[in-house]
Amino acid sequence: MSKIPFLLVILDGLGDHSYAELNNKTPLEAASQKNISKIKSFGAQGLMDPIAPGVPPSSDTAHLQILGYDLTTEYFGRGPIEAMGEGIELKEGEIAFRADFGTVRVVGDRAIVIDRRAGRIPTEETRQLVELLNKEARFVDSYEFKVVGLTEHRAAIIVRGEDLSYEVTDNDPHNINVPVLECQVREEAREKEKAKRLAEIMNKWTIRTMNILEKAELNEKRKKEGKLPANVVLFRGAGVMKKLPTFYEKHGLRAAGIAGGALYKGVAKAVGMDLIEVQGANGMPDTNIKGKFEAAKRALSNYDFVFLHLKATDYYSHKGDPVGKSEFISKFDDHLSIIEDKFKDIALMITGDHTTPCDRGLHSGEPVPVLISAPSIRRDDTKIFSEREASIGSLGRIRGSDVMKIVLDMIERTVEFGTRPSPRLITYMPSELKALKIS
Ligand code: ZN
Ligand code: ZN
Repeated sequence: MSKIPFLLVILDGLGDHSYAELNNKTPLEAASQKNISKIKSFGAQGLMDPIAPGVPPSSDTAHLQILGYDLTTEYFGRGPIEAMGEGIELKEGEIAFRADFGTVRVVGDRAIVIDRRAGRIPTEETRQLVELLNKEARFVDSYEFKVVGLTEHRAAIIVRGEDLSYEVTDNDPHNINVPVLECQVREEAREKEKAKRLAEIMNKWTIRTMNILEKAELNEKRKKEGKLPANVVLFRGAGVMKKLPTFYEKHGLRAAGIAGGALYKGVAKAVGMDLIEVQGANGMPDTNIKGKFEAAKRALSNYDFVFLHLKATDYYSHKGDPVGKSEFISKFDDHLSIIEDKFKDIALMITGDHTTPCDRGLHSGEPVPVLISAPSIRRDDTKIFSEREASIGSLGRIRGSDVMKIVLDMIERTVEFGTRPSPRLITYMPSELKALKIS
């Protein structure tokens, strides 16, 4: 069997609209494509709906879908994925939330959110508040809470205890000048009683921690200095730690992940990829792209599948800056030269996990362009890599759930439909097959 290594590059939030300041081009169309065009010359393109047409994906759901995981049976919330990416070790069954220290003002019996980042409280001060909460609000009933301070206002909450279900809503209203929300059971919850228990203790914890934070010495000091107090913990993305089948078990490919942002490192870890740490890779515009490409190049010699993630495209989209986004894509194109000598020998896909139009500043349900190339592939005649050209490319319109099938086929690892070399229903030829003993 041939061994063609595969490189999946995800430029977060790549898809976009066209803008006057880019001569009515999209950021991708306006970017330099010196190296992309070399890949394109032995490839094809198309459009992808990461989840389904018109559904704006979150980054974690889009990635899991693209990597071949079933969101209805193999997705247990964002909290644990992000916590894993931050290097927090979670045990099976532990509940995790992403959280932010924020500022509220009490009006009657409501707590109105004034700032969702507590005036961008520095990391050191967040750590002090985290220590206070871990001491004074460690238990609610018999359930144990652990807060982990991350950078600036960011934190993670871990809840331990029996008979809880993560199927609850956020207390974070995701907006300002609106009240902190009651944590409730999700309507579609499979384990309603257990979810109700978690919602109850989360609400108790929210109120208790607000009282503790309000009286905290550090907040008194901040107020005196004219700064916003960090007097609430807003949480979202409830999830439970569950072990997923590994990427290797699913697809028969030894995989490595390279990313700067915690969520993407978490996705790689959650699916059992080897995470390759690159110094200076931070998920921001000044990330170490060179280091990431060099790491990808080395990994292509040791792994069957390499996942390389770049976040800054989405960062510029949320900021509403199409020029910045386009310049970052040009920078990406420039660094593709690092793997240029591999172009002909590897299979490659460049795509996004969703469209984030700069004029909307949020993820949209529009499809993303996909560029593929492989040593043996049906090429198309599209001119540049672009949202518009992709709509006439020979790959057509695919879904995120098609990606891994296409990948396995591109690297010639698929088995014909109906072939059963293994008791497990798989789409690839496994490396270990059970031989018949003849003596
Ligand atoms: Zn994303
Ligand atoms: Zn985004």
